[in-house]
Amino acid sequence: MLPVAACATGSIITQLSLLLQRYRPSENLQNQVFDLYVMKVLIVEDELELSKSIVSYLSTENYLCETAYDFNSAVDKTALYDYDCILLDIGLPDGNGLRVLEFLKRNRKADGVIIISARNSINDRIEGLNLGADDYLSKPFHMSELSARIAALIRRRQFNGSRVVEINELNIDVTGKTVQVNDQKIDLTRREYDLLLYLISNRNRVISRNALAEHLSGENVEIYDKFDFLYSHIKNLKKKLTAAGCTDYIKTIYGMGYKFEA
Ligand code: CA
Repeated sequence: MLPVAACATGSIITQLSLLLQRYRPSENLQNQVFDLYVMKVLIVEDELELSKSIVSYLSTENYLCETAYDFNSAVDKTALYDYDCILLDIGLPDGNGLRVLEFLKRNRKADGVIIISARNSINDRIEGLNLGADDYLSKPFHMSELSARIAALIRRRQFNGSRVVEINELNIDVTGKTVQVNDQKIDLTRREYDLLLYLISNRNRVISRNALAEHLSGENVEIYDKFDFLYSHIKNLKKKLTAAGCTDYIKTIYGMGYKFEA
């Protein structure tokens, strides 16, 4: 167990770093974007290159990434800080990642956990889920897939498993996949719906054009120009929503991407 003082210090550091994040303008000064809702992700992964790629990909999506390369530092960090999502490798040099999960549960930590593991055995998967992991992703995976899983996990946690998301005049039934503006049903295509939910699940965060385009096209490589594809879906989605009397919440952040601002 950590001494109380250490926990308190850790919590103060977390608060300070969050405050700094809140009031620190984006690196990209031309946009002067203040990111108010920074999602924190801990990447527990001993493969250095993979860890670096994940950090670099998720950073472009405005996640605040921290890394742990072994079991002990993973336990230390999770003891001191709270994360929105922990990406957890099972095969660590000094221990089994599943034991990190046990540690979290024993200490009633509520961080979301996605297991990322080369071991695609059904036993690891079952044990991980039984121990309370939220999701499981087998290596190798595409970064866009990982990002979509993280967004889905955070969305589930943000929406508290609720089936209906309500933002002012906008009402989305996640189970029925229906969208209403002031009780008027809006007909969206599957891609427009996905786009809307992805933006809302990252509410008030700037999502890069690239991340959105990849989210939208998936592994569909035959799409000629993924940005044209994205622009036309964004345009149609905005048109359908505003035509029904919805505020134009989807903001274009010049040179960066889009943000659902509400
Ligand atoms: Ca490993």
